[in-house]
Amino acid sequence: MDNQRPLEDSGLGGVTGGRSAFVRRTVYLCQESACLNCGICLEGCPTKAIFVHRNRPVIDACLCNDCGWCEKHCPTGAILRTVQTTPV
Ligand code: SF4
Ligand code: SF4
Repeated sequence: MDNQRPLEDSGLGGVTGGRSAFVRRTVYLCQESACLNCGICLEGCPTKAIFVHRNRPVIDACLCNDCGWCEKHCPTGAILRTVQTTPV
């Protein structure tokens, strides 16, 4: 099974005087101030995309498949789903 998460979207965005290409992808972030360090997200992540760094969860965007499990099950709502847009 391929755990690599595809880019959510890509395309061309208009800019003044021309056009620019971009990629858009979903990224999950842990808000440290809201994290209880309970470990639920690490145990439940189906792709093992979450690891611990400095006593807090960090999500590897390359392993994450955007299933949303961690966001739904975090007891404090510390995990947020965001969309990043990057010019290419
Ligand atoms: S489930 Fe939420 S509170 Fe628990 S370790 Fe993960 S981010 Fe922190
Ligand atoms: S969205 Fe799913 S795959 Fe991505 S880190 Fe959360 S539980 Fe793991």
